[in-house]
Order: sequence, then C-alpha cells, then structure tokens
Amino acid sequence: MSGSIVEEYLARTPGSAALFERASASLPGGSTRTTIYSAPYPPYMTQGEGIRTWDVDGNEYRDFLGNYTSLILGHAHPAVVAAVEAQVRRGSAFAAPTETEIELAEEIRRHLPSIELIRFTNSGTEATMFALRAARALTGRPLVARFEHAYHGTHDTAVAWTPGVPEAVSSLVIELPWADPEGVERAIAGRERDLAAVIIEPVQGAGGVRAAPPEFLRFLRELTTRIGALLVFDEVIAFRIGPNGAQGRLGGVRPDLTTMGKIIGGGYASGGFGGRADVMRQFDARRAGSLVHGGTFNGNPVAAAAGLATLRHMTPERYDELERLADRLRSRIADGIARDHLDARVDGVASIFQVFPGTSLQPPDGLSPDAAMFLGLLLDGFHLAPRGMGALATPTTERDVDDLATAVLGRLGAMQAVAVA
Ligand code: PMP
Repeated sequence: MSGSIVEEYLARTPGSAALFERASASLPGGSTRTTIYSAPYPPYMTQGEGIRTWDVDGNEYRDFLGNYTSLILGHAHPAVVAAVEAQVRRGSAFAAPTETEIELAEEIRRHLPSIELIRFTNSGTEATMFALRAARALTGRPLVARFEHAYHGTHDTAVAWTPGVPEAVSSLVIELPWADPEGVERAIAGRERDLAAVIIEPVQGAGGVRAAPPEFLRFLRELTTRIGALLVFDEVIAFRIGPNGAQGRLGGVRPDLTTMGKIIGGGYASGGFGGRADVMRQFDARRAGSLVHGGTFNGNPVAAAAGLATLRHMTPERYDELERLADRLRSRIADGIARDHLDARVDGVASIFQVFPGTSLQPPDGLSPDAAMFLGLLLDGFHLAPRGMGALATPTTERDVDDLATAVLGRLGAMQAVAVA
C-alpha cells in the first residue's frame, strides 16, 4: 500500500482522468472551483445518496465532506428532494418575491435572535461582501479587520493581498491574531476610528477547525462596541454546530451582523446576511440612497425551499446525534494516535472535524502528508477535504464513523511506518 497510491488511484479512475483531460481544454485547471482540485485530478462524481457517492468509474465513496459542510442531511434527502421538486414544478425563479423566502427568513430568525432583518444571496462570498459593505456604509469608515487564516470567500476584501486585488483595496484590511486580545489591540492601535467592522468565524473552517474561546468573543464584543465598529460573525460553516449556531453556543455573544451560507441552502446555491435592523434597513429600496443589492437569483425559491426543508428537519436531537457521532469519531482517532504513537492529531467542534497529519510522516510518491492521506482515503472509499477536514451528515451511522477512524489510522500508520523504517 505504501507503494504508489498515485498509481493505484490512476488505475481506478480512468474515467475521471479522461474527463479531467477533456475539462482542461475548456476550463482552466479542469474545473471552476479552486477548492476542489487535488492532484493528480479529482474524482468526477455522478451520483449521491445519503452519505454515499459514486464517481464516473463506479467507485463508491462515503462522503464525509458533504460539499464542504453544506449537505447536513446528506445527498438527495427525501424531504429536500420533495421540496425542490414541488417548487421546480411551480417555476424556478421570478422577477418577484415569493413566500418561501419569507418562511426561510422567519425560520432562521427563530434560531438566531440577533438577526432582526435578513437578506439572501447566492453564496457565502456575497454574504460577507454585503455585510462588510453595510458596515462601511453605516459607519462611514473604510477599514475592515479579519483574522489570520480566516476564510470569508473570494471577493476583494476577503482575499486582500492576493494577485489581482489592488493595493488600495488590500491596505484597507487589517489582519488580527487569533484569540489574542492584546495582539488585536496592538494591530488596530491608532486606527480604531477608521475601523468599520471586525469579522470573525466563531469556528474557523479553512484555518483548521478551531472554535474561538467564548471570552475572546466577549472581548471582541466589548472592543467593537467601545470603538464604534460592527462585530460580524461569519457563520457560513459555524451555523451547523447547533440549533442556535455558534452565537448560541460560544458564550452567548450577540453580533451586529451574521453571515450564512452552506446549510441554509440545503445543498443549493444560497447565502444570507442579517442582524441589527438599523444596519439592514440600509438595503430598504424605499429609502433614498439605499445600498445596491440586486441579484437575479437572490432568495430564489428553489434554494429557499431546500434550505427551509433542511432547517426544519434539523431538530435539536438531530444536532445532538451528529455531535455524538463526531465525538465518537474524534475519540477513536485520538485513541489510535496515542496508542500507536502517531505523529498526528484530530480536532473539531460539534459535527465538524479535522485530522492533521504531522510533518515527520513520510508520505509516498513525493506527496505532502495531507495529500497522501486524502488520496489514500479516497482509495479506501472515503471523501474528506484535501486538508483533512470533514463534517457529518444525518444519514451517518456508527459503523460509518468507526470505518473512517480505522481507515484514517491505517493511512497515518503506513506513513509513520515508512518514517520509522
Ligand atoms: N465564509 C466562510 C466561513 C466559508 O467557509 C466560506 C466557504 N467555504 C465562505 C465564507 C464563502 O462561501 P461560498 O463558497 O458559498 O462563497
């Protein structure tokens, strides 16, 4: 097994190889989404049901990523399929509002009391973009502060200091150290009056699945109130950690604005941002000088119906069960790591987890430890993020979790064995 996992992958996925080659003639890098590329090419999927997916070569996977945490009910859940089918038959989009969008807004507000008013978007990227614009408009201030390793999507402010973003834009972004109140104060010192917003993922996703300490969130609440900046919780991923999101769980801090995505679309393209009524009223088109928020598919009824069906299905008991299974997964992996003295660790919050292979491991084929674990797990029939992150969906069983723990430990052990040999 420690031979060539790349060769084994190539042998098992000729159909994906052919599609990747064909795709590369039309799409740069063979796809339209940076975050799903993995070397030598990703498996091309054809079907999903529950947590099972199948690629074009007929390989079966247990999907522990759920489109990057968004499919909390798994693939093609009957309640979601029924809601979507019913809506599609009535029409997929109108140049007019629908009642479904109101129902979704009401459902979300029931779970997140800090949201007095909400607007829907088509992605988490748009959600954070509009939340930050609203903060800048309300305060009349230009600067935005975000945390190291944060991920808030792909608009200019979210990806400051990357190619294509002018320095004039990047210089309006301050990077803050994580969970370090004094470091935060230092980073903004002298610029407090120019700061429109501090945006934070209460549970960082791309940064390595870590929850902000409640006392740190309380510190940010006090700081932003004191200096007149808005506190924005990016709950695009974190909303799934419980019925009342991260804000209901991590110290009860009430943000000024919250951004959402992923599960509120029930597997379809969606996002949203909302919070304090005075901030959100800036989008009221009846007001002179209201903020521009067009969007051909904003609040589109198909995604709204899917999101509504999903959130209604997610009872507190179902959140608890997801967490119980994720705890079981984490403790089985952690026990195995300790038992076999593996250079790795596992972490996570509620239904989200991440396995971190250590740097001393010796992966085959010149791959990084992350890449080798990802590819090895695909060969074992498990789909995680290339960086080792995953999230549980309601169809997951104890057996699924135990099988994944065994596979992860096997892949880590193989790399450790090579290291020792
Ligand atoms: N914020 C966070 C915390 C995210 O994790 C993501 C996506 N992974 C986004 C924003 C952007 O969402 P989208 O991919 O829907 O644009």
